[in-house]
Amino acid sequence: MKPIMFLPILCFLKVCLVLSQPVDFICGTIDYSGEDTPGIYNASIDPVELSNYDPVVFNISFWGVNREDGSSDHPLIEEYALQAVQALNIEFNQYNIFFKYYDIGHLNSDDYYEIGSSFEFYDLIEYAKINGKYYYNSFNVYLFVPTAFAGIGMYKQTTSGYNQYFHNNLAGFIHEIGHNLGLKHTFDSYDIDYNSPPVNRCFDCEQVTRNPADPHYNADCAGDAVPDTAAVPNFREEYCWENSLNPAVCDNVAYQYYYLNLEDCTYENPSAVDCDEDTRQVFEIDVRNYMAYTIKECRDSFTIGQGNRMRQTIVEDIFGQFEDAQTTLASLYEPYRGEYYVSGPEPSPANPPLFQPGFEYRFLPCECDCPEPTEYHNTNFSYSSSAWSVIDKATSNYGSITHPNHTAILINHPHSDFVPQPRRCYDNWNRSPKEGSVTKFNDGVFNTNVTITAKDSLEINDIYLIQNLPQGLYKIEKNYNDGSVLESIIQKENE
Ligand SMILES: [Zn+2]
Repeated sequence: MKPIMFLPILCFLKVCLVLSQPVDFICGTIDYSGEDTPGIYNASIDPVELSNYDPVVFNISFWGVNREDGSSDHPLIEEYALQAVQALNIEFNQYNIFFKYYDIGHLNSDDYYEIGSSFEFYDLIEYAKINGKYYYNSFNVYLFVPTAFAGIGMYKQTTSGYNQYFHNNLAGFIHEIGHNLGLKHTFDSYDIDYNSPPVNRCFDCEQVTRNPADPHYNADCAGDAVPDTAAVPNFREEYCWENSLNPAVCDNVAYQYYYLNLEDCTYENPSAVDCDEDTRQVFEIDVRNYMAYTIKECRDSFTIGQGNRMRQTIVEDIFGQFEDAQTTLASLYEPYRGEYYVSGPEPSPANPPLFQPGFEYRFLPCECDCPEPTEYHNTNFSYSSSAWSVIDKATSNYGSITHPNHTAILINHPHSDFVPQPRRCYDNWNRSPKEGSVTKFNDGVFNTNVTITAKDSLEINDIYLIQNLPQGLYKIEKNYNDGSVLESIIQKENE
């Protein structure tokens, strides 16, 4: 904890402004010290290899930790959970990894409203399991008041925890999910010279060289074991370590990110060397990496190598949790809430099916006479490729993501192998039309000699409407509340 005494001093030094900004980020994740399973991880930085992984979909659930009396300074609401789901999909879909919003819940506990260490977080998970606040078929995210770190992601597992204000720093949240998917900090073990000269190349600090022929090369297994992230220092603490400042002093923001230009997310420290005294080579992309320690404004990318490592972590599934949390691609086409109208009176208030944000949805006009949407695997319907409506993946209007009548859902997927196929044609004509018209073709053939009679709600819904028409050729038009129009042609014969 920062001593209270620091605050007036910092104000005097005119860094109050800096102090008030969310500059700091500390992660409570302890990188799993076990070795990767041989034969599964290959440290590949090949984009083709990465593009060959099949899509995988994980359920994800969010739990707000309240005080015992149910109160919280910042209670978890569904909108925050949806913001997180949106951010995850926008970032991870390129690796063919999808997240399906599964549920939101709360648990009340004075013991866990504040979390001060990794070990307290592990206790929270056990407490949640005992109290039915943990889904075994889902990722689980706990939102609490952290007093020693911003977030924590269980390495190669499906549980994470974060500041209850997580929706204000979703880049930090993505960092924690990166740990879940087997990523280490890019600075992992950066200044620890385990053995000199190294006995085991993989347990030495990560060397700067990226040339596999160099005898120093160990980027494929040392540090974060990802060769296309540079061997970087901990940007937050580098200055303090260099100058042997004690940790309390190092909490002073004036020393944090000392060698970073936070305006353009670049690093400059000409004297920085790795543990073999080789000069560091750190690029902007390394400062922007989600798994580095940087400010949220700089954190916006993973590398191909990290993508491959995440997919290999899912294959390894060393704790068996990824398989348990998996769901189907079809689930992405299911609403998280709301109901489809099928028949009978329309619900009041309206309760339309709502879909999670984070995808570009294209709703394509379709026909199949399906009062309920067709099953995901049933593509036996006709459709038009020009969209009735398009929802942007970054929309903030979550209430707008519903499934219009007479359309099928196309999720526009960023993955290069994806074949666009609209699903779930919903073509329901069971609603009552609000008004309409009857057009009589006076010559008994289709021409412009017509008489048009407008019909109000009662008249157009009259079940004797057709029966009572005199002999002749007619077009009946029914207009519905949702904007759809149904036209039918009637040849009325003599009775
Ligand atoms: Zn971390």
